[in-house]
Amino acid sequence: MEKTSFFITERDNKKCCSSSCKEIKIKKKRRSPSKEANKYDLVDYASLPTFLKHNEFILSYYRSEWPIKQTILSVFSIHNETLNIWTHLVGFFIFLVLTNYVINSSPMINTTTTSSLTHQVILHNNLQIIHSNDSQVSQTSLHVNQTTTMIKNQETSEPTTRWPFYAYMCGAMFCLLMSSACHLLSCHSEHTCYLMLRLDYAGISGLIVTSFYPLVYYSFTCHPFIRNVYLTAITVFGIATIIVSLFPVFETPEYRSMRAGLFVCMALSGLVPIMHKLMAFGDRPEAVVTAGYEMIMGAFYALGVIVYAARVPERWMPGRFDLAGHSHQLFHVLVIAGAYTHYLAGLVYLRWREIEGC
Ligand SMILES: [Zn+2]
Repeated sequence: MEKTSFFITERDNKKCCSSSCKEIKIKKKRRSPSKEANKYDLVDYASLPTFLKHNEFILSYYRSEWPIKQTILSVFSIHNETLNIWTHLVGFFIFLVLTNYVINSSPMINTTTTSSLTHQVILHNNLQIIHSNDSQVSQTSLHVNQTTTMIKNQETSEPTTRWPFYAYMCGAMFCLLMSSACHLLSCHSEHTCYLMLRLDYAGISGLIVTSFYPLVYYSFTCHPFIRNVYLTAITVFGIATIIVSLFPVFETPEYRSMRAGLFVCMALSGLVPIMHKLMAFGDRPEAVVTAGYEMIMGAFYALGVIVYAARVPERWMPGRFDLAGHSHQLFHVLVIAGAYTHYLAGLVYLRWREIEGC
């Protein structure tokens, strides 16, 4: 996830705002034979070039302008980005396994049941109703109604569209992989850092946009006009955000808050289709359950952003959390928790439409 701080201080900019400052630091390095001998040693915050200064509360264990080979191999060594890299790399593989699971369990409801067999099941259930008490009757009737609807849908309609669910899984995997790569490679050079951050922003935008797809598509399956308006709006919003983040001018401090605001607005706009879904289908348990998951997801993301922005706990004890436990690692874990919650919502959406169709 995004490593560039929106909060680089004025002091940092004044300290080292030109290429001459960088040259002075290189000269300083060259004066020390021991530094030359240990070229790939980890360094302290004070020795970093400006583009690597994001968090003054993490004091040491930095990689700085290492050759690309050493930078890539550092995925297996210990430094202050190790857990940032691996939290999202593990998250990527978790989503890969989950995607594979859903593909192999396609569809969520077994459609191989033959028509005659399912009618026998209904007959059996109806016999149960006759011989059961009142509370069991209502439960069994609900089950029979669902089964009957499901069978009708399977016999008369096409299989449930799955691309919105898979688009979300791909969006989550792309975001996690780009974030991991960004944390691994950004220390190589200022140019690499710039490129990786662009990919990281694209990954964040992709995750937010594709998070809308299952929500909008499955909630408004039977209302194609509304569904298409929402899908088009969020896709255009996401592409615009990616384009905006490509302009170098938006890397400057005065535009950073604007870019952060774009991501937050894009995420908050999800409240519109969620509220719309609840107003239109509030009597459906699937609509309520998925809205609950979406609120939990939002809480995870919001908590992650707060921890990220506040830079706690390292703010309270600078240097203590350099390797493990600092805010960015907590932020990564909360992002995975939020994305996993949305995956659970996606399963409910799939089941809803496989039962009910349109
Ligand atoms: Zn990150």
